[in-house]
Amino acid sequence: MSKNITTYHIIGGGISGLSCAWFLKDKKAKVVVYEEKKILGGRAYSYNDEKSNRRLDNAVHSIIGANKFMSSFINKDEWEYTKYFVDSLNYSVSTSLWKNRDILYKAFCNMPYNDISGKIKATILRLLFPYIKSKRKVWFSKQNLSQKIINVLASKADEIKLNSCLKNIKYDKDKATILDFGNYKVDLKENDKVILALNNYECAKFIPVNSIEYSSIVNITYFTSQTIFLPKGASFVAQKTGLADFVFVNDGTVTAVISAYDSAIKMNELPIKIWKEIDALRGVDSAFLPDYKISYFPNATIKQDTTSNMLRPSNAKTQYSNVFIAGDWTMKDHPCCMETAVKSAKRAMMTAFKSK
Ligand SMILES: Cc1cc2nc3c(=O)[nH]c(=O)nc-3n(C[C@H](O)[C@H](O)[C@H](O)COP(=O)(O)OP(=O)(O)OC[C@H]3O[C@@H](n4cnc5c(N)ncnc54)[C@H](O)[C@@H]3O)c2cc1C
Repeated sequence: MSKNITTYHIIGGGISGLSCAWFLKDKKAKVVVYEEKKILGGRAYSYNDEKSNRRLDNAVHSIIGANKFMSSFINKDEWEYTKYFVDSLNYSVSTSLWKNRDILYKAFCNMPYNDISGKIKATILRLLFPYIKSKRKVWFSKQNLSQKIINVLASKADEIKLNSCLKNIKYDKDKATILDFGNYKVDLKENDKVILALNNYECAKFIPVNSIEYSSIVNITYFTSQTIFLPKGASFVAQKTGLADFVFVNDGTVTAVISAYDSAIKMNELPIKIWKEIDALRGVDSAFLPDYKISYFPNATIKQDTTSNMLRPSNAKTQYSNVFIAGDWTMKDHPCCMETAVKSAKRAMMTAFKSK
């Protein structure tokens, strides 16, 4: 590798940080990813759960066919697809996206439909247009997020430094000069570029950005010994009514997702209440509660109402000429999801690549 080659220092090993490496794979550049945790993936990863002795995703992640980048990354044979929406009030099943848009948008934006910014709703409509079947398909991860997405993206980085938490950036006039990781420092060379691929509140530690409120998600995984069948034999259903917005079936697990959890129902009451919902969906009487794992993500995504959307940045530049930002929250008017994280990486890389 030539001595004058530009090094891209990517801070954050989530989907946006790793996608930066992906977009630089064919360019003459060196990519180093620094991640504060001991594993990659940020808000989307798989891990070995000691209690159940299984490989689990931190939370089920779904994507739609209209997610161009994410659809190209996954092998659809290894993900599952659904088209069923169930109204738990009367257990009627519907396949209409339009009639069920409130629950779909809630899943996209982790906010009740009526609270979502009109601009974000418009972006989703445009994304889905033309409303052909392949764009509307909804796929979900099967405890394979790291294997099928994170590791694939990570393979394009030249170097990955885990347990590397950026503590401080030293600036000289309009340029970053030193990255300080506490136990080691990196002196930036003339052409080097830094991409902060961090959450909003983490990014704010290093550059001035508006502070944005967050919305939470609860994910409950039940461990089942028998195969569970949902209405129409579907692997996953969206519930129009009910506590759980989505219910996903995998080999030996059933996972319920509660978007925009607002603590109206106490967390410790959720597992039994939702299990009863799942039994009702299956048309069986609730007999016993299986083992389960409940995960609460208080900062799952930023709020996506009009006020929060206006606080988001309009491009990847910062006041420093060699520092750029990526991350799902950085793309104004877009839903905060994996696809947007990838798009933000593309924008950051193009901006950084063109900058002198
Ligand atoms: C429960 C849950 C369910 C979700 N469901 C879906 C879904 O179904 N579909 C979908 O598309 N999206 C979903 N999302 C959203 C999706 O996970 C995110 O949009 C995406 O993962 C964001 O990636 P990111 O790289 O922008 O941010 P992050 O994943 O937050 O990455 C930031 C990384 O930076 C690291 N970091 C932080 N500070 C430092 C530091 N100082 N130094 C070094 N590293 C640092 C963090 O550890 C982290 O790895 C869900 C999210 C959650 C939490």
